[in-house]
Amino acid sequence: MKINQNGGFAKSRAEQNRAAVEEDRVLPKDSRAAAEPAAETFVLSPELIDDVVASLGLGPRPVEVQTIQIGDLSFPVPKQSKDTAQNMDSNNDGVLETWEVGEYYQGALEDLGLNCNISDYAKTEAYHLAGAKPDYLNAYLSSRQISQKLAELEENHRDRAELVVLGKSTEGRDIQALRVSKDVRSEASKSRPSVIVTGGLHSREWATHESVLKAADKFLAGDSPCLESLEVWFVPNSNPDGLEFSRNGNSMWRKNTWRDENGEIKGVDLNRNSSFNFRPEGDTAESTEDDIGGSDDVNAVTFRGPSPDSEPELRALKALLDAETNALGHLDVHSFGELLLIPGSKLGASDKEYRELAQAVNIGMKDVDYRIQDSADLYPTSGVLNDYADSLGMSALTMEIGTSFQPDPSGLESLLDNASDGILAFVEHLGKKNSAVNRP
Ligand SMILES: [Zn+2]
Repeated sequence: MKINQNGGFAKSRAEQNRAAVEEDRVLPKDSRAAAEPAAETFVLSPELIDDVVASLGLGPRPVEVQTIQIGDLSFPVPKQSKDTAQNMDSNNDGVLETWEVGEYYQGALEDLGLNCNISDYAKTEAYHLAGAKPDYLNAYLSSRQISQKLAELEENHRDRAELVVLGKSTEGRDIQALRVSKDVRSEASKSRPSVIVTGGLHSREWATHESVLKAADKFLAGDSPCLESLEVWFVPNSNPDGLEFSRNGNSMWRKNTWRDENGEIKGVDLNRNSSFNFRPEGDTAESTEDDIGGSDDVNAVTFRGPSPDSEPELRALKALLDAETNALGHLDVHSFGELLLIPGSKLGASDKEYRELAQAVNIGMKDVDYRIQDSADLYPTSGVLNDYADSLGMSALTMEIGTSFQPDPSGLESLLDNASDGILAFVEHLGKKNSAVNRP
């Protein structure tokens, strides 16, 4: 028996099969009397019939799924989603509902140990299957709106904020950063040690863009001593094409919009494309069977790309990391799971500094308690941007904010508030540590 989201019970397919078989057995009263077997006839018991039916894989044919139902809205099932929708329609009624989508993924998400709001997760997936724009779309900012917010922040804080274009995306959009420091246009500000915060590397992680924006907003409006001692780079939208693609009927899209030789959008996972540890030993380009940490399959969500550093978005971010030779740290904001991930397996080596940094971020977020763990313990990864920052000697941390890719708008404000506080705690911790080291 499976519990659905309304707390009711959905019949399993086997139970439905049994019920249908029982219905078939109900004959009109008089015909039943006529069919009364002679005493010596072998009687098939109902249990035996069920066993035979089950062993032959018979029973009613699955009903073809015609509709995806999300709350009050129903959508026809697009061709490309037919098979998936059919697999998920556990009560076999021809209508795929969000609780069925949630049930389908729940086990896998639990196995990963992620804190997850299944109903928000399932809603995003259901919109993706329907190829429709989510009803909560306008609660989130588009790439154009993020650019507008950045321009506003620069305009309102000209002494502290400077908009910088790091490079161009696959489709020619600007990859923008807001450089924040006291007297930001002075030469002195450029030589200050820096902290780099990136968000939106994965398209579907819609709250990450805005938590970086919100952190920039709070930092600019406040009076942190770090404004004078540091140069902080806020990059809220690392993958602007991907964000737009995910907002237009592909809500589960994670990659950029790289096209294959036929001109079809396949996308590269920008967080698997870095030349640092691009292809772990034993993972060959010729096979997808031996994939480790990233995939050579263009259709995989973790496709690592045709070659190391092939993607312009990743190159723009790496150029910033490379140029900032005095950078103290890099924080990469992702979602979801409520985790603070330390590159590789440093905690195993009991790295006190990393643990202190992650704890400072956690303490900075008042209403939540994120789990601190080695990223290697979540799942193996390769070609990761944050690992590259770590290899350059920066304090690197990945934050997995919230409990779904696109939280319901009702929970968005508190999520952004906590996440932005966590981001600023990262900045403050590194700033404080640095000034303590440099004190005469
Ligand atoms: Zn991510």
